[in-house]
Amino acid sequence: MKVCVVGGAGYIGSHTVYELIEAGHDVIVIDNLSTGLKEAVHKKALFYEGDITDFGSLDKIVAGESKKKSFDVVMHFAAKIVVPESIKNPSLYYYNNVEGVRTLLDVMVKYNIKNIIFSSTAAVYGEAKDGICTEESETKPINPYGETKLASEKMIGWFAEAYDMNYCIFRYFNVAGAHKTLEIGLLRDNLTHVIPVTIQTALGIREKMTVFGNDYDTIDGTCVRDYIHVSDIAYAHVLGMEYIVKKNVSEIINLGSNQGFSVKEIIHEVEKHYPVNYEYGARREGDPAKLIASNERAKKILAWIPKRSLSDIILSDLEFRKKHKN
Ligand code: UDP
Repeated sequence: MKVCVVGGAGYIGSHTVYELIEAGHDVIVIDNLSTGLKEAVHKKALFYEGDITDFGSLDKIVAGESKKKSFDVVMHFAAKIVVPESIKNPSLYYYNNVEGVRTLLDVMVKYNIKNIIFSSTAAVYGEAKDGICTEESETKPINPYGETKLASEKMIGWFAEAYDMNYCIFRYFNVAGAHKTLEIGLLRDNLTHVIPVTIQTALGIREKMTVFGNDYDTIDGTCVRDYIHVSDIAYAHVLGMEYIVKKNVSEIINLGSNQGFSVKEIIHEVEKHYPVNYEYGARREGDPAKLIASNERAKKILAWIPKRSLSDIILSDLEFRKKHKN
């Protein structure tokens, strides 16, 4: 299939491009390089610099490519994803994550592209009851990041109805790790996610880290999340795309491991390799105590099973960061 990957130079996008190419698909990447890196784009994919919020720039690229062969699928990864930043700067999140999706959908309508794979998030669930989320759990975000993703999910649903499109919306839990080649991983300034922060601390790239809150109602008082390897996530996109195109259906699917680990457990796992200098601090605004995926639907519909464990995730990120330390 011919696939347009918007945000394909970013972390999850670049891993998905690797999986798509390995599966034999024809891949065009559009990215504004705001956080992505051109070097992260697989050599067999064709790269265009373009911005999701700029109709003219997308229109030009898609028009040119469609003359050669029309796209079968669009994949959307070009989002802002940091919860604390979304609380400080909601405008940036609504503009990029909602207005950007609307612009992309308008381009899809113009060029009659019928299938979209969309990156959503566990943050749409907010404070889930008992912390376990099925796709039917109530969606009640507690931060602007989750709100913008939920708004986009709904918008995609309405576009799908109006223009006869199919979608596969993936709600990611906590994604981490790096590609087995160690060529690509999460590389950017001012990382905020707990696994890279812990590993950077272990490697001495940061002097110390703070655990945000140790008075939550969880096994050890620190927040519990469901961690999933980026290559497992990426491969799910290939399966999801093939599924919705073949069956002509739409789906919303959680991508997680069914297991939760606390921040303290993450630190202990990293400490199997190197000591971590950490301290306890105040709770971080917008953090639910516990978020764990039920991944039954992904297993049932896509026959997708995450292959990598928490220790695989941590080891791959550690090796990646050692390789790219400078
Ligand atoms: N966390 C932490 N210290 C850090 C970064 C994150 O204690 O330096 C905690 C954070 O408060 C949350 C969990 O780790 O409870 C996962 O946060 P992250 O930012 O990795 O992902 P999120 O779940 O917010 O998408």
